[in-house]
Amino acid sequence: MKDTGKCPKCKGAPIIYLEGIQKMPSGYIKVKTNEEEYVQVDRYVCSVCGFMEEWIPEPDLARLRAMCNI
Ligand SMILES: [Zn+2]
Repeated sequence: MKDTGKCPKCKGAPIIYLEGIQKMPSGYIKVKTNEEEYVQVDRYVCSVCGFMEEWIPEPDLARLRAMCNI
């Protein structure tokens, strides 16, 4: 969806981009329960059927890899 601009379920378009917002609970994921480490979560929503994908954008993805020693 992010790259194709089309829904993989219904082939619909356009795709709506919803950037993860830090002050919203659903906009960020806590990585480890005992540490204050969060990563941003962006969403891509099909405007036809409502199917949704979630992506962690750079540089938060790089931070996540470092937190997980990858
Ligand atoms: Zn769809």
